[in-house]
Amino acid sequence: MVIHIRRGVLGILHNTRALRYTLNLTTTSFKPNFPPNSNSNTVNGNLDEALLEMSIGGFTVKFHFYDSVLTECVNNKALNHGKRVHTHMIKTCYRPSVYLGTRLLIFYTKCDCLGDARLLFERMPERNVVSWTAMISAYSRRGHSSEALSLFVKMLGADFQPNEFTFATVLTCCNGNFGFDHGKQIHSLLVKTHFKSHIFVSSSLLDMYAKAGKIHDARQVFDGMKDRDIVSCTAIIAGYAQLGLDEEALKLFRQLQKEGMRPNYVTFTTVLMALSGLAALEYGEQVHGQVIRTELGFYLVMHNSLIDMYSKCGSLEYARRVFDRMPEKSVISWNAMLVGYGKHGLGKEVVKLFEKMRQGEIMPDSVTYLAVLSGCSHGGMVSEGLDYFDSMVKSREIEPDIEHYGCVVDLLGRGGSPEKAFDFIQQMPFKPTSALWGSLLGACRVHSNVEIGEIAARKLFEIEPQNAGNYVILSNIYAASGRWEDMITVRKSMKENTVKKEPGKSFIKINRTLHTFYAWDKCHPNKDEIYEMLGKLYVKIKEVGYVPDLSCVLHDVDDEQKERLLMGHSEKLAITFGLIRTPHGMPIQIVKNLRICADCHNTMKYITKVYGREISLRDSNRFHRVVDGVCSCGDYW
Ligand code: ZN
Ligand code: ZN
Repeated sequence: MVIHIRRGVLGILHNTRALRYTLNLTTTSFKPNFPPNSNSNTVNGNLDEALLEMSIGGFTVKFHFYDSVLTECVNNKALNHGKRVHTHMIKTCYRPSVYLGTRLLIFYTKCDCLGDARLLFERMPERNVVSWTAMISAYSRRGHSSEALSLFVKMLGADFQPNEFTFATVLTCCNGNFGFDHGKQIHSLLVKTHFKSHIFVSSSLLDMYAKAGKIHDARQVFDGMKDRDIVSCTAIIAGYAQLGLDEEALKLFRQLQKEGMRPNYVTFTTVLMALSGLAALEYGEQVHGQVIRTELGFYLVMHNSLIDMYSKCGSLEYARRVFDRMPEKSVISWNAMLVGYGKHGLGKEVVKLFEKMRQGEIMPDSVTYLAVLSGCSHGGMVSEGLDYFDSMVKSREIEPDIEHYGCVVDLLGRGGSPEKAFDFIQQMPFKPTSALWGSLLGACRVHSNVEIGEIAARKLFEIEPQNAGNYVILSNIYAASGRWEDMITVRKSMKENTVKKEPGKSFIKINRTLHTFYAWDKCHPNKDEIYEMLGKLYVKIKEVGYVPDLSCVLHDVDDEQKERLLMGHSEKLAITFGLIRTPHGMPIQIVKNLRICADCHNTMKYITKVYGREISLRDSNRFHRVVDGVCSCGDYW
């Protein structure tokens, strides 16, 4: 069950950027060439009187008056006052200049009156680039991207040359289905102008590419930028992190810091996200230290990322410390902490924290329930989990979705009742997904239920015929009950149907260097030392009872070769390297991109016994914390 709590980071980026454009639109580009005027308190004073008095003034007087009042109305979002000024203009037959007309337009957009603004815009006898940009920017800020883009096209059609603000604004609208194509066209348009190197324009361009997942194009823009600011630096780091290129994100963050970048809270949030991906605790602590030293103040989203980072890096204690010290929490903070406990198999903590949450003011949401249910499941608290699901259904505050039902299937399967889980699947109001059948199949492996295992596997072969994992589990179930012929048939059909899966790799971080291992890795500089140690390790664990689980090998080779293949799995290499390079007694922390196989899981248990080490391994599904031969997952993953 994958629970996403990474949301919102790019949202902040976008808002920061939008804010910056807004500021520039109002302070720089709209500054008129008139002497400063004195009556800036007009709105606060008596507007009626002022308007009456002003009717007798000349044209220049009127201009200064309107300008000053409108400025106040924009600053205070004083809708009624501004409307009266507008009415006054109409009543006294005053024809505002293009500058003043645009001020009025901005006033309407600032007061969220997009319809009025557009009407005014359409009726303006004369427009300039600022009026066009203000209207486009108003649409863009409120997320009406297609409206903004079509207005931009009209602007070009009317022979107006966009300026740097127009380009920067319109590029932020290039998202969604066709956004990227528009963005590329705008990019080629930009090449012909001198705005390309303007910092706002290039950071919008970079952001556009990054959000579209075109990280190489984004990087090219970034590398070509003459000036960079924290927004553009953060955007490129976030671009890498969003694509899961955590190593690159972190590398760039460090490099930019060396070059003098001063991170803000969005940068920190982004880099913490990348660190969670890498489970790089030591560096995570350093970044946390920097956050404290920078004295940024309290930012909820950054603290939520800290909780997430610490729990994903295996330090629940620190995660909880951050959580407890937050002066203010959101439902995301609670969810992050609950997910953290759940992934570590600490069902009791999940329940305790959830009960505490229910006593407070923050209401659980759908993710909370997901975290609680899967936490109960991972922590083996079957009856508690089922009770929570019941109360969720009864309270009707949050409609359970397919993922909640999936957790229940997991709970029942884990509770030793694949039959009940199967009944539940048949009665639920959703069409079962592959994840659900997969969970049932896993339960059948653990509880050696051939009958239901076959049903689940058959469903899975229909839905995802190319996923080798399902064939392997079914063949394991057959093997466990001695049905060798069926096992051979399943293996055969696996060979005919499946495609090559993503290669497994494991990471370990030692002295600030991240080491990546593939199966039978030949590239690591210390490979000789590692394989020598691995050989010794095998002898030692076999002495205390380890037997290789040959059913984990998919290839049709003899047993000796199967054992050899197993021995070189990436996580074993990473653990061995950890044993060599970390001081005796220190825990070893590994991250694996796929699910750990049964043999490696078993090997880990023996290693912790023989070497007296604790091993934490985070695979694509959950945390395994192995101490003295026992894993926190209870051998169910
Ligand atoms: Zn393995
Ligand atoms: Zn485990």
